[in-house]
Amino acid sequence: AYMLLNGELIERSEGKIDIEDRGFQFGDGVYEVISVYGGHPFALNEHLDRLFESARKIYMNIPYSKTELEDGIKRLLQKEKKNNCYVYMQFSRGTSIRNHIIPKTATGTLIIYLLDAKQIDEWKQKGIKTVITEDIRWLRCDIKTTSLLGNVLVKQKAVEKNASEAILHRDGVVTEGSSTNVWIVKDRLIRTHPADHFILNGITRREILSICENHQFRCMEQRFTVDELLEADEIFITSTTLEVMPVVEVDGQKISGGKPGPITRKLQSLFEQEIQFRCFD
Ligand code: PMP
Repeated sequence: AYMLLNGELIERSEGKIDIEDRGFQFGDGVYEVISVYGGHPFALNEHLDRLFESARKIYMNIPYSKTELEDGIKRLLQKEKKNNCYVYMQFSRGTSIRNHIIPKTATGTLIIYLLDAKQIDEWKQKGIKTVITEDIRWLRCDIKTTSLLGNVLVKQKAVEKNASEAILHRDGVVTEGSSTNVWIVKDRLIRTHPADHFILNGITRREILSICENHQFRCMEQRFTVDELLEADEIFITSTTLEVMPVVEVDGQKISGGKPGPITRKLQSLFEQEIQFRCFD
């Protein structure tokens, strides 16, 4: 397998990062995961914009243009001849003598490589189990940073209870999942947390919001509580790797009779159509 390291295409096993890379020591970096369908990265432009936006928010300059990053991804996809996979790209602040102070001289480290696609068809059919847990993360969840320890710890809460995702709350208000955005449907009204510093504004989230608008679904970016979550008619989560994933259980309690609900089903298929339209047709 290959990787791009600072723009150079090399064997993955040849990739070397300095022990004082700030990505390694401080989690001082930003990243993106992009789905590739039929050889075409989905919403590539949106992902690249978000990468630059995350970097800007942590006072980091990425010394590449969007076109250069795009070309790199395409080069890698051609080299690996992969049609269905994920692109992982990460830019860290680079190597500097260990010190919390942001260095002026470090130039940053860019890595891009491909991850195998997850098989999610069965999950998409049946839905997944989740648990509710406290959102213990910091207050800048809008930044897609490689500092993911909070996310890792809450995911572990889910794993310990045989669930696949942790739904997070702050003082009883649902924010998002450990690596997904969370949505509820009640009386045909769809709701998800507003895009502020408490959540990551998912690219899939934005796609679903625009699908809702284009297809006249009633949808609001409005906070909801854990109680409202438990009383919802339907729950689903969204992310690049899970697309539109039905939630059929929360803390052992069945949601929508333990089966994916009709609005979730409809949004799943509209999102699949969008993929088909943009990556295959
Ligand atoms: N929230 C968090 C915390 C995430 O890590 C992710 C991405 N894995 C998402 C939401 C979903 O974002 P996207 O749709 O862009 O993958």
